[in-house]
Amino acid sequence: GYRSRAAYKLKEIDEELRLIKPGQVVVDLGAAPGAWSQYLRRKFAPKVAGVGGAAVGELDGRILALDLLPFEAIEGVHFIQGDFREQNVADQLAEALAGAAVDVVVSDMAPNLSGIESADAARIEHLIELAIEFCGQHLKPEGTLVCKVFHGSGYSQLVKLFQQHFHVVKPIKPKASRDRSAETFLVGRRLRLGGKLAP
Ligand code: SAM
Repeated sequence: GYRSRAAYKLKEIDEELRLIKPGQVVVDLGAAPGAWSQYLRRKFAPKVAGVGGAAVGELDGRILALDLLPFEAIEGVHFIQGDFREQNVADQLAEALAGAAVDVVVSDMAPNLSGIESADAARIEHLIELAIEFCGQHLKPEGTLVCKVFHGSGYSQLVKLFQQHFHVVKPIKPKASRDRSAETFLVGRRLRLGGKLAP
Protein backbone atom coordinates (compact mmCIF):
# COMPACT_ATOMS: atom_id res chain seq x y z
CA GLY A 1 0.00 0.00 0.00
CA TYR A 2 0.84 3.68 -0.15
CA ARG A 3 1.07 6.24 2.64
CA SER A 4 -1.69 8.23 0.99
CA ARG A 5 -4.19 7.81 -1.81
CA ALA A 6 -2.44 10.72 -3.51
CA ALA A 7 -0.21 8.06 -5.08
CA TYR A 8 -3.03 7.08 -7.43
CA LYS A 9 -3.15 10.57 -8.91
CA LEU A 10 0.49 10.43 -9.95
CA LYS A 11 -0.01 6.85 -11.13
CA GLU A 12 -2.88 7.92 -13.40
CA ILE A 13 -0.95 10.90 -14.75
CA ASP A 14 2.05 8.66 -15.37
CA GLU A 15 0.01 5.95 -17.04
CA GLU A 16 -1.62 8.46 -19.34
CA LEU A 17 1.53 10.36 -20.28
CA ARG A 18 4.28 7.78 -19.68
CA LEU A 19 6.42 10.26 -17.81
CA ILE A 20 8.40 8.20 -15.37
CA LYS A 21 11.06 5.88 -16.70
CA PRO A 22 13.90 4.02 -15.03
CA GLY A 23 17.16 5.91 -14.93
CA GLN A 24 15.57 9.34 -14.55
CA VAL A 25 16.25 12.07 -12.02
CA VAL A 26 12.95 13.17 -10.48
CA VAL A 27 12.24 15.96 -7.98
CA ASP A 28 9.12 15.56 -5.81
CA LEU A 29 7.99 18.91 -4.34
CA GLY A 30 5.54 18.92 -1.44
CA ALA A 31 6.37 15.26 -0.95
CA ALA A 32 5.06 14.49 2.55
CA PRO A 33 3.76 12.05 3.69
CA GLY A 34 5.53 10.36 0.78
CA ALA A 35 3.09 8.47 -1.42
CA TRP A 36 4.37 9.99 -4.68
CA SER A 37 7.93 9.19 -3.66
CA GLN A 38 6.85 5.62 -2.92
CA TYR A 39 5.32 5.38 -6.38
CA LEU A 40 8.49 6.77 -7.99
CA ARG A 41 10.64 4.39 -5.99
CA ARG A 42 8.63 1.42 -7.21
CA LYS A 43 9.09 2.55 -10.80
CA PHE A 44 12.84 2.74 -10.25
CA ALA A 45 13.27 -0.56 -8.42
CA PRO A 46 15.12 -2.87 -10.81
CA LYS A 47 12.92 -5.88 -11.57
CA VAL A 48 16.01 -7.98 -11.93
CA ALA A 49 18.87 -7.10 -9.64
CA GLY A 50 21.72 -5.44 -11.45
CA VAL A 51 19.83 -4.73 -14.67
CA GLY A 52 19.38 -1.24 -16.07
CA GLY A 53 22.65 0.29 -15.05
CA ALA A 54 21.97 0.01 -11.31
CA ALA A 55 24.06 -2.05 -8.94
CA VAL A 56 22.34 -4.83 -7.01
CA GLY A 57 19.92 -3.32 -4.48
CA GLU A 58 20.30 0.15 -5.94
CA LEU A 59 17.53 2.14 -7.55
CA ASP A 60 17.72 2.75 -11.27
CA GLY A 61 16.92 6.43 -10.97
CA ARG A 62 17.22 9.24 -8.46
CA ILE A 63 14.47 10.77 -6.33
CA LEU A 64 14.83 14.04 -4.45
CA ALA A 65 11.91 14.92 -2.22
CA LEU A 66 11.15 18.18 -0.43
CA ASP A 67 8.54 19.24 2.09
CA LEU A 68 7.91 21.69 4.90
CA LEU A 69 6.86 18.76 7.06
CA PRO A 70 8.92 15.84 8.25
CA PHE A 71 8.97 12.75 6.09
CA GLU A 72 9.42 9.18 7.21
CA ALA A 73 12.51 7.97 5.39
CA ILE A 74 12.12 5.92 2.22
CA GLU A 75 15.20 4.00 1.19
CA GLY A 76 16.76 5.54 -1.87
CA VAL A 77 14.83 8.82 -1.58
CA HIS A 78 16.90 11.89 -0.69
CA PHE A 79 14.64 14.03 1.49
CA ILE A 80 15.14 17.70 2.31
CA GLN A 81 12.90 19.35 4.88
CA GLY A 82 12.24 23.02 4.25
CA ASP A 83 10.12 25.71 2.68
CA PHE A 84 10.49 25.77 -1.07
CA ARG A 85 9.95 29.55 -0.98
CA GLU A 86 13.25 30.01 0.84
CA GLN A 87 16.33 30.48 -1.29
CA ASN A 88 18.51 28.37 1.00
CA VAL A 89 16.11 25.45 0.61
CA ALA A 90 16.20 25.69 -3.18
CA ASP A 91 20.00 25.87 -2.83
CA GLN A 92 20.00 22.64 -0.79
CA LEU A 93 18.06 20.95 -3.57
CA ALA A 94 20.55 22.22 -6.13
CA GLU A 95 23.40 20.97 -3.97
CA ALA A 96 21.84 17.52 -3.69
CA LEU A 97 21.53 17.41 -7.48
CA ALA A 98 25.24 18.13 -7.76
CA GLY A 99 24.92 19.32 -11.32
CA ALA A 100 22.65 16.48 -12.50
CA ALA A 101 19.91 17.62 -14.87
CA VAL A 102 16.35 16.70 -13.90
CA ASP A 103 14.01 14.71 -16.14
CA VAL A 104 10.76 15.32 -14.30
CA VAL A 105 9.65 17.71 -11.55
CA VAL A 106 6.39 16.80 -9.85
CA SER A 107 4.71 19.18 -7.43
CA ASP A 108 1.75 18.36 -5.25
CA MET A 109 2.49 21.44 -3.09
CA ALA A 110 -0.57 23.19 -1.81
CA PRO A 111 -0.31 26.27 0.39
CA ASN A 112 -2.45 26.63 3.48
CA LEU A 113 -5.51 28.42 2.18
CA SER A 114 -6.85 31.52 3.89
CA GLY A 115 -10.24 31.46 2.20
CA ILE A 116 -9.55 34.89 0.72
CA GLU A 117 -9.66 34.01 -2.94
CA SER A 118 -7.22 36.58 -4.29
CA ALA A 119 -4.67 35.90 -1.54
CA ASP A 120 -4.91 32.15 -2.08
CA ALA A 121 -4.57 32.48 -5.84
CA ALA A 122 -1.43 34.59 -5.30
CA ARG A 123 0.09 31.98 -2.98
CA ILE A 124 -0.58 29.17 -5.41
CA GLU A 125 0.83 31.19 -8.28
CA HIS A 126 3.93 32.02 -6.28
CA LEU A 127 4.70 28.35 -5.60
CA ILE A 128 4.22 27.56 -9.26
CA GLU A 129 6.45 30.41 -10.38
CA LEU A 130 9.14 29.04 -8.11
CA ALA A 131 8.69 25.54 -9.50
CA ILE A 132 9.01 26.91 -13.04
CA GLU A 133 12.07 28.93 -12.05
CA PHE A 134 13.59 25.76 -10.60
CA CYS A 135 12.88 24.01 -13.91
CA GLY A 136 14.60 26.83 -15.81
CA GLN A 137 17.72 26.11 -13.78
CA HIS A 138 17.67 22.33 -13.46
CA LEU A 139 15.24 20.67 -15.87
CA LYS A 140 16.48 19.04 -19.07
CA PRO A 141 15.20 20.89 -22.15
CA GLU A 142 13.02 17.89 -23.03
CA GLY A 143 11.89 17.52 -19.40
CA THR A 144 8.47 17.70 -17.78
CA LEU A 145 6.87 19.64 -14.94
CA VAL A 146 3.66 18.43 -13.28
CA CYS A 147 2.00 20.86 -10.83
CA LYS A 148 -1.14 20.66 -8.80
CA VAL A 149 -3.32 23.71 -9.44
CA PHE A 150 -6.87 24.71 -8.60
CA HIS A 151 -9.66 25.73 -10.89
CA GLY A 152 -11.09 29.13 -10.14
CA SER A 153 -9.44 32.45 -9.61
CA GLY A 154 -6.00 32.54 -11.20
CA TYR A 155 -6.30 29.31 -13.19
CA SER A 156 -6.11 30.79 -16.68
CA GLN A 157 -3.16 32.89 -15.50
CA LEU A 158 -1.34 29.70 -14.53
CA VAL A 159 -2.05 28.07 -17.88
CA LYS A 160 -0.56 31.16 -19.55
CA LEU A 161 2.47 31.00 -17.31
CA PHE A 162 3.00 27.34 -18.25
CA GLN A 163 2.60 28.19 -21.92
CA GLN A 164 5.27 30.86 -21.62
CA HIS A 165 7.72 28.27 -20.37
CA PHE A 166 6.77 24.99 -22.05
CA HIS A 167 6.07 24.06 -25.65
CA VAL A 168 3.38 21.56 -24.70
CA VAL A 169 0.90 22.27 -21.90
CA LYS A 170 -1.85 19.92 -20.90
CA PRO A 171 -4.28 19.98 -17.99
CA ILE A 172 -5.07 16.59 -16.56
CA LYS A 173 -7.59 15.65 -13.92
CA PRO A 174 -7.04 12.19 -12.49
CA LYS A 175 -10.15 10.28 -11.46
CA ALA A 176 -8.51 9.85 -8.08
CA SER A 177 -8.95 13.57 -7.40
CA ARG A 178 -12.67 13.67 -8.16
CA ASP A 179 -13.44 14.30 -4.48
CA ARG A 180 -11.63 17.64 -4.55
CA SER A 181 -13.42 19.11 -7.48
CA ALA A 182 -11.23 22.21 -7.87
CA GLU A 183 -7.99 20.27 -8.00
CA THR A 184 -6.36 19.60 -11.32
CA PHE A 185 -2.81 19.16 -12.64
CA LEU A 186 -0.95 21.10 -15.27
CA VAL A 187 1.68 19.26 -17.24
CA GLY A 188 4.33 21.23 -19.10
CA ARG A 189 6.64 19.44 -21.47
CA ARG A 190 9.74 20.63 -23.31
CA LEU A 191 11.06 23.83 -21.84
CA ARG A 192 11.04 26.93 -23.98
CA LEU A 193 14.63 27.92 -23.66
CA GLY A 194 15.02 31.54 -22.73
CA GLY A 195 11.44 31.69 -21.40
CA LYS A 196 11.55 34.44 -18.79
CA LEU A 197 9.33 34.96 -15.81
CA ALA A 198 7.51 38.24 -16.03
CA PRO A 199 8.95 40.57 -13.37
N1 SAM B 1 2.25 14.14 -2.86
C1 SAM B 1 2.22 13.92 -1.41
C2 SAM B 1 2.11 12.45 -1.18
O1 SAM B 1 1.92 11.72 -2.15
O2 SAM B 1 2.26 11.99 -0.06
C3 SAM B 1 1.10 14.71 -0.75
C4 SAM B 1 1.36 16.19 -0.75
S1 SAM B 1 0.28 17.18 0.24
C5 SAM B 1 -1.19 17.18 -0.68
C6 SAM B 1 0.92 18.80 0.00
C7 SAM B 1 2.24 19.04 0.69
O3 SAM B 1 2.78 20.30 0.24
C8 SAM B 1 2.13 19.16 2.21
O4 SAM B 1 2.85 18.10 2.82
C9 SAM B 1 2.76 20.52 2.52
O5 SAM B 1 3.55 20.51 3.69
C10 SAM B 1 3.60 20.78 1.28
N2 SAM B 1 3.93 22.19 1.07
C11 SAM B 1 3.07 23.24 0.99
N3 SAM B 1 3.74 24.39 0.83
C12 SAM B 1 5.06 24.06 0.80
C13 SAM B 1 6.26 24.82 0.68
N4 SAM B 1 6.22 26.16 0.58
N5 SAM B 1 7.44 24.19 0.69
C14 SAM B 1 7.48 22.84 0.83
N6 SAM B 1 6.39 22.06 0.94
C15 SAM B 1 5.19 22.66 0.94
